[in-house]
Amino acid sequence: MDTLGLARKDDKQTSHDGAEHIKPRLNDRKLEFMSGLRALGGRATAKEVASNVYPGEFAIFDSIRKRAIDCVRLGWVREVEPRECKVSGRKCTVYEIIEIARCEACGGEMVNGVCKRELEEESNG
Ligand SMILES: [Zn+2]
Repeated sequence: MDTLGLARKDDKQTSHDGAEHIKPRLNDRKLEFMSGLRALGGRATAKEVASNVYPGEFAIFDSIRKRAIDCVRLGWVREVEPRECKVSGRKCTVYEIIEIARCEACGGEMVNGVCKRELEEESNG
């Protein structure tokens, strides 16, 4: 399984309109959220990430928050203690990147010190 979402890179170009701002597809949005979050030190609110990745484009901030929730579901980030958001000024959920390390036993990915492969084997019975 492509757990990081990085392997499937679509090189096809939509060149018919030559627009410089082509709206990325959903999976790209997740990866953008991740790189935006990393750029902010790996810990930020969804709106802080959105304003960093798409400055001034408030219309899509809600969509970025949905991407944040997707990333939580995928195990790429986790929700930590809420604090005042620098963008909205309100108390917002803070997202933190879960660092991925390599398992010494199998070379697979580890999430928070637990081998993902072992977790999968466990859940497969
Ligand atoms: Zn392992």
